[in-house]
Amino acid sequence: MERKSHQRSLTSKVGLLYFFMNVISISLFSWVITNNQIELITENTRYQAKEQISNVVRDLARIPKDSSSRQGVAKAFQKLALPYILFRGDSVLQSSAPAVKLPSNHARDALAAISMREDSGVDYYLVLDKKLEMMLFYVPYEDGVVFTQMSMGQIGRRFKDLYQLLGVTIISLTLMHLAFGFLIFRLVITPILKLHQATGRIAQGEYGHRVDINRHDEIGALADGFNFMTGVIQQNFQRIEQMAVTDELTNLYNRRYFFRQLEQWLERSDRYGNFLGLILLDIDFFKKCNDNFGHVAGDQVLRGVAKCLADCARKSDIVARYGGEEMVILLPETTLDGVVTAAEKMRRSLEELEIRTDTGKSLRVTASFGAVEYQRFCAHSGGNHSSVMEFVEAVDAALYLAKENGRNRVEVSARC
Ligand code: GH3
Ligand code: MG
Ligand code: MG
Repeated sequence: MERKSHQRSLTSKVGLLYFFMNVISISLFSWVITNNQIELITENTRYQAKEQISNVVRDLARIPKDSSSRQGVAKAFQKLALPYILFRGDSVLQSSAPAVKLPSNHARDALAAISMREDSGVDYYLVLDKKLEMMLFYVPYEDGVVFTQMSMGQIGRRFKDLYQLLGVTIISLTLMHLAFGFLIFRLVITPILKLHQATGRIAQGEYGHRVDINRHDEIGALADGFNFMTGVIQQNFQRIEQMAVTDELTNLYNRRYFFRQLEQWLERSDRYGNFLGLILLDIDFFKKCNDNFGHVAGDQVLRGVAKCLADCARKSDIVARYGGEEMVILLPETTLDGVVTAAEKMRRSLEELEIRTDTGKSLRVTASFGAVEYQRFCAHSGGNHSSVMEFVEAVDAALYLAKENGRNRVEVSARC
């Protein structure tokens, strides 16, 4: 079955979304902060300038109206280190040194200052010159008007500070967002990719593979669930695999598995010249056992015989049920002498075996054995190798010989 291919776009989608969120939130943040701060700074500067001019106005009000009054004006402005011009119409009556320049609209603004004082009692008139970044003040005094100006340069300085602060804040926010993004990647995307990889390996038959995510959160629970599910699949697969090669009644290997193994061992023997023994046995007069004690007892006998054979055989031997009451044993790396010895040992063990049925009866059976060894068989047949069926037929013929010669005995193939 083919797997659907998926574009791995989650990472890029999340990344893109995250990037835009980052840009939007930082821009919004900067915009709100900058607007508020600009307003505050402008207000603050204006407030300070107005405070200063109010001081001047207060001082001007205190100057006695005599010949020294002009000196009082100079002092009031000197105190605050502000340049000034006292003028009436177009004529300058007095000015600081160095004097500021009268703006082109001074006459109009002077009139506005005078009418403002008359109408609403406000002591000064303020004009903002945004181009020059100046605050221009007109203060009516006696029958003239005093002009002075204050720089808004400190606003610029404060803006610079504000932008620096904003820069640092934006960099820190971006770093924080990047760290957060990295964390999301490590915590969510990486485990998803791990799980995805694991599904691929399991689909290829690596049922022992487990995802390595040890966490106590939702992702950890998902990984645990995944590993548990894989464990169950592995167990079931092993069980099915076991069932596919096992004979249900005797628990020995089945005929299919035996032939698969025989083919492989013959190939190995052909290539490397290894010894390979084969024993085929058939229970003697088993039909009578069934007829006398029933098939259930017969089945128990088969199980008892199978267990006895498995106990006698080496771990490296392969014991299988060939058919009905015939069993077969494959003995890798065993010479003919060894095969005969093993067969004799099994024959004697079976002879001595007492099988107790469910009904309490005690049954005894014997079996006839055919034995063959592959290298000897090939040499005797005049070739370097022979087919599986020729080899099996040889051991079958030996078994028949054992039956013919009186049963409960071991016969070696005539072609060995
Ligand atoms: P011989 O000594 O010549 O081998 O005689 P035998 O009676 O053992 O041989 P025969 O081939 O005549 O009979 C084999 C019997 O094995 C026939 C059948 O009832 C029995 N048999 C085959 N498979 C099973 C099984 O799975 N369970 C039981 N209970 N009996 C089985
Ligand atoms: Mg038989
Ligand atoms: Mg038989």
